[in-house]
Order: sequence, then C-alpha cells, then structure tokens
Amino acid sequence: MDEVRNQRKGMVMTTDRMNQLVIMVNLCSSVVEGMEHLMSNRKNERLKEDTVLGLMSLAGNLKEMQADKTVIHETRWMAEVIKNWLFVYDREFKDRLYRWYFSTLKEIRNLMTEELETCPVCGGKGGPHYGAAVYVEGGTKEESVLKPVRVYMKCKDCGNYYLAKEEGGFFKDKKGRRRTKAGCERLLADIGKFRTEGAMLFIGGERSQLYKEAEKAGYPLRAISLEEFRERKEIEKYSVVILEEFPKSRDVKAVLAGAAEYLAEDGVLWFDGMDLDKSLKILEKKGTPIWRRETQEVCFTEEGMNTLAQSCGLCVKSYRRVGTANGRIEVIAEKLV
Ligand SMILES: [Zn+2]
Repeated sequence: MDEVRNQRKGMVMTTDRMNQLVIMVNLCSSVVEGMEHLMSNRKNERLKEDTVLGLMSLAGNLKEMQADKTVIHETRWMAEVIKNWLFVYDREFKDRLYRWYFSTLKEIRNLMTEELETCPVCGGKGGPHYGAAVYVEGGTKEESVLKPVRVYMKCKDCGNYYLAKEEGGFFKDKKGRRRTKAGCERLLADIGKFRTEGAMLFIGGERSQLYKEAEKAGYPLRAISLEEFRERKEIEKYSVVILEEFPKSRDVKAVLAGAAEYLAEDGVLWFDGMDLDKSLKILEKKGTPIWRRETQEVCFTEEGMNTLAQSCGLCVKSYRRVGTANGRIEVIAEKLV
C-alpha cells in the first residue's frame, strides 16, 4: 500500500493522455520483442497473433492521438506483413522493423512533448516563461552539462503558468508549511466575510494549526485526507470547504471540481497556491536562478484563475496575494448556481 502511495507521489505531470503515451512506448517494445522471438521461431502462432494484435492496437492509438500519418501507415503495414507473409523474415525485414521501432518511438516522444506544452487549464498553447538551468558535474568534462531542470510555460490563452519540465530528484521534498496563529486567524476572518456558520470540511489538513483555530472559532468540523478526497466514497455537503494542501497535480481542474462537489448550494471553497510572479522577483533579488523547494504543477494568475474557476462551476469571490518570504495566492470561490 505504501509503495502504491509513494509511486503516486513520485509521478510528475501526469495526465490520461500522458499515461496512454507511456503505455504505447511499452507496447512498442513488447511488439519488437515478440517479433524477435518470431524470427527465430516462426511456428509460434499464438505469439504471431499477439504481435499482430499489439501492432493493430498501437496503430489505433496512434490514430487517436493524431500521430504522423506515415507512422500509422507503417505500423499497419507491419501488422499486415506479419499476419499474411511469413516469408519476409529476412535481413531486410529486420532492418525495416528497427526503422519502424525508432520512428514510432520518436513520434510518441513528439506527442509527449506536445502534451507537456499544452495548457492543463484551457488546452491552449503556452510559451516558455521561466527556465532554470544548472551545471551538473560529472566524472569527465563531457559529462558536466548545463541542464535545464525547471521550466514554466505561460499560457497565451488563459494566462496561467504550468510546468513543462521538472527534473525529478533534483528538488528536495517540501517541508510542511506551517501557518502561524495570527495567519490562521486572518485567514478565518477572510472566510468569515462570506460564511460565518455551517459545517466546515478540511481536505488534507487534519489536525493542523488552521484546523485548531477553526475549532476555536466554533465551526463544526470534519477533516479528510487527500487519499479519502481522491476516493470520494461518500460526499456530504458543507458550507465551507478548505483545501488546505493543494495536491501536486497537473489536473488542477479535476482537483477544484472535486472539491466543489462537497459544497452546499451556498458554500464557499478556500484554497491557496504559489505566487510565481512573486517567487521570481525574490529569486532576482537574491541573484539565484532557482529555488530548491518542490513546486506546483500549475500557478495561477488573477486572469487565469477566473477561467479555471468557471470551468469548475465556481465563481471567484476573493483573490489575495499574501506573504513576503514566499508569495502565495489565496482564493475564495463560490459555487455557481
Ligand atoms: Zn490556458
């Protein structure tokens, strides 16, 4: 169980489409392995069938992903050849097989890059906004390279920022953010401007300082972990929902829409996120190219926040930029009726 959870934690920038592309890479490799076996053992009918099926489903996937037509065509051709013309297992076929393999992998890699460049909020295309490279020292001179380790894009359509690259393992795990008592009180006062009573749900923030302060303020409380939030077994409705720890996910739309499901008709949702503009200003001041903390997949801008909220059935009521050491953005949104 722990293993599963860690794996999930370790996954970076995952979308359904990206998962599908990873599966396609694996399928490509198993098809080639299958064919290598077939070349030495032509009578294995079962393996032949599996290989043809693998190639056909790969061709279907490539078509669905709108891959380059010649790659789709070549994949179908490969399936036809194996299915009907056994005699072609010669040197020339082998060469063609590897050519097919490398060009298909290259195309899948292109699709992956394209997927990374697509804005997860609105599907628009962004341009590089911030990129940090560091020198990575290797054993020999050739191994020391300037390596891009973190790249943020800015979406030209909705204005939000999103990660296009983050080198795994380079950044230390974030330490849990601690809120001060005064900070919690200020935050609860902000929420109090919109809702003063009714039940409150904490997502991901069980027994935190904020939880304690809310308890003192007299809200009836319930807390669920991020795992429980993901599983969504039973959904009760609350007047106030606090997403205390925004999960590290590229699919911020699913996160917010999921949190909104817990809102009563007149409920409000509170969440916060990193203020990228502020963070970059701080870096500039310090004269360092990068902060070593973990970061968010998507960073909001005020304009971009409205687009995102609307697509999740929410309406932004309050948008605040807070914090001096680390800039943060705090949002209070209401359910759209
Ligand atoms: Zn966008």
